[in-house]
Amino acid sequence: MSLLAVGTVAFDDIETPAGRAEKVIGGAATYIMLAASYFLKDLQLVSVVGDDFPRETLDFMQSRGIDLSGLQIRQGEKSFYWAGRYHKNMNDRDTLDTQLNVLATFDPVLPEHYKNAEYVMLGNLTPAVQLRVLEQLQQRPKLIALDTMNFWMNVALDSLLEVLQRIDILTINDEEARQLSGELSLVKAAKKIHAMGPKYLVIKKGEHGALLFEGDNVFFAPALPLAEVIDPTGAGDTFAGGFMGYLASTGDVSFENMKRAVIYGSAMASFCVEKFSIERLKDLQTEEITNRVAQFARLVTFSA
Ligand code: AMP
Repeated sequence: MSLLAVGTVAFDDIETPAGRAEKVIGGAATYIMLAASYFLKDLQLVSVVGDDFPRETLDFMQSRGIDLSGLQIRQGEKSFYWAGRYHKNMNDRDTLDTQLNVLATFDPVLPEHYKNAEYVMLGNLTPAVQLRVLEQLQQRPKLIALDTMNFWMNVALDSLLEVLQRIDILTINDEEARQLSGELSLVKAAKKIHAMGPKYLVIKKGEHGALLFEGDNVFFAPALPLAEVIDPTGAGDTFAGGFMGYLASTGDVSFENMKRAVIYGSAMASFCVEKFSIERLKDLQTEEITNRVAQFARLVTFSA
């Protein structure tokens, strides 16, 4: 099975209560693809960087099986840059700076061999770019997931609503679900969001886990209580990459299997936050992932 992902590949400056990291590798698509690389070999990246982006990182991504033929490298231009500072609770953060650079004029072009992707993850980006990716596909993928944020609800609601009609799964955080639906109750929010298009909805609640909705079916996955969180950046994208990677590797999109995928996504996110940037996602062992999934199972298993 193939997974196509579009999203940012970026430089980040990050400040958390645990320390700082400057000009480190970030970007939604980077995290999505690296997390998915632990489940799948056919990974198709669609993104853009400037010629300032390190060759070693691109080589590393390729070594993880990520196809870079849909990555545009613009000569004489700079990569997307984001700076953020986390609050003491590690859940809230302030964006200190966003420099679109190459992203300002990004027009995704899918290589021919990407056009029949079976699984598609539209990472957080302008909804118009997410739409452009869908328009180039030759057949309807088995599953399309989309991640977005409050910023796009504020500045591009119409095109966001248009793309929502064409996807299967929306992943957003609780605040964003409330903003998009105008409902305080997440159950009511889920109903309204289903009516906008997505049959499935994943509401991410940071250190409080995630909820999966499909009509009246609801599943809750906790986040693993960790002794130390170093950097939450990319946790949401890592979740999405693990979730989609697991689904694509099993080829099963039933609600029962999606529950397992939510746990695999949560397990991958729990690794992501243990170090700055993508460091923890560089060389995970299969056994570590399996053990962590078992930890999740133990966390919620009890006899009633
Ligand atoms: P997350 O913590 O999962 O929300 O993802 C953080 C990553 O998203 C960082 O590595 C940033 O480079 C990237 N990012 C931050 N702001 C944006 C934005 N407005 N559009 C796309 N990607 C962004």
